[in-house]
Amino acid sequence: MEGLRRFFDIDENLLALAKQAEQSLEDTFAKIDEMAAYNEQNVLSAFIKAGISSSHFNTSTGYGYDDRGRDTLDAVAADIFGCEDAIMRYNFVCGTHALTVPLFGMLRPGDTMLSVTGTPYDTLRGVIGIGGECDGSLHEFGINYKEVALREDGSVDIDAIPAAITDDVKMVYIQRSRGYSLRPSLFVEDIEAIAKVAKSVRRDVIVMVDNCYGEFVQYDEPCARGADIMAGSLIKNPGGGIAPTGGYIAGRHDLVEKCAYRLTTPGTGRELGCTLGHTRELYMGLINAPRVVGEAKKTAAFCAALFDLLGYGTLPSADAARADIIQTVLLRDRERLIEFCRGIQSGSAVDAFALPEPGAMPGYDCDIIMASGSFTLGSSIELSADAPLREPYAVFMQGGLSYASAKVGVLLAAKRVLELDKAQG
Ligand SMILES: *Cc1c(COP(=O)(O)O)cnc(C)c1O
Repeated sequence: MEGLRRFFDIDENLLALAKQAEQSLEDTFAKIDEMAAYNEQNVLSAFIKAGISSSHFNTSTGYGYDDRGRDTLDAVAADIFGCEDAIMRYNFVCGTHALTVPLFGMLRPGDTMLSVTGTPYDTLRGVIGIGGECDGSLHEFGINYKEVALREDGSVDIDAIPAAITDDVKMVYIQRSRGYSLRPSLFVEDIEAIAKVAKSVRRDVIVMVDNCYGEFVQYDEPCARGADIMAGSLIKNPGGGIAPTGGYIAGRHDLVEKCAYRLTTPGTGRELGCTLGHTRELYMGLINAPRVVGEAKKTAAFCAALFDLLGYGTLPSADAARADIIQTVLLRDRERLIEFCRGIQSGSAVDAFALPEPGAMPGYDCDIIMASGSFTLGSSIELSADAPLREPYAVFMQGGLSYASAKVGVLLAAKRVLELDKAQG
């Protein structure tokens, strides 16, 4: 705690609480480290098997034909994720894009997409065409959508899935992480159980997973445990805080091929796509990713332990097993939510001086506040927090490239919330 005392203005009471929180997490941190080590070794062995050398970091331009570094990265990603095939590229502009490509790549007019984890993440709603038409949505192309609602407690209604898999259902869609909701995130074991039930109804139904925030959080990935295809963002977990943009799709070879024809064009697929010198950053991000995810999990656990001591509800609880890197704290009112986000921002390496303000965002019925002082715009593997300003005033905090640094943001958030308590008596 000496650095905190010397370089930051944090009082002795809060430091004592931080120490208590950290001591309570000894076993939790040991488990996180063990899992991170396993996943780091998985990634390293995939690099060694693929014979990665500096020649793989060479750049390409134009059509990008025969870009060996790009093609080998695909193979390395598939090996790491325990599946047949993958496409990992900077050409995906965001996570939503990496998820949209498989939807359009695999679904055809007349098919139905069945979401079994309630309504998907906000940005996917326009893609599907839920609640108001979006130009170019799946709905416009005659692809239908239905969902199995979550149970009252936020869990997946697994018993309702078989009846929902009617003949027109081509895909069962699972969102692993919870987005801006308070449902529990899904463990790989939960996804495996859903895939098993779905396949028992129809063997050929495609099980797709939105794997955002889930990579390297457990020992296995969904595609190694029964899912057919998954996708995610490189400015979250698998980019390791280094990838400047991008995404990936991984899973069964025949399905990944279909996705490639949607990513570029039918007929050309994955043979095209120059890398403009970004391949090295993607490899570097990938090798760092498991450790960074471990640091983010420790930061989340520390946040939960500290705010638990301060009397706030947390989800998941500090010592719980984690299925993603998101930590929710129930801050109970608008002012505390704002102060928390300002504290996180003030502990960031970039833009620490900025003061987050709530504001309107398209697609939301209330103001949103966001704290993110990141090197990569919108990166949420770097420490960040966001919250819709509505009941139950829950903040969603995630990321942290290093625990020792990210912990500062959490402590400054706690400090601001405590100051508000004091001011209000
Ligand atoms: C981040 C995220 C996405 C994709 O979001 P982008 O902002 O487009 O990168 C999709 N689903 C979940 C659950 C996410 O967390």
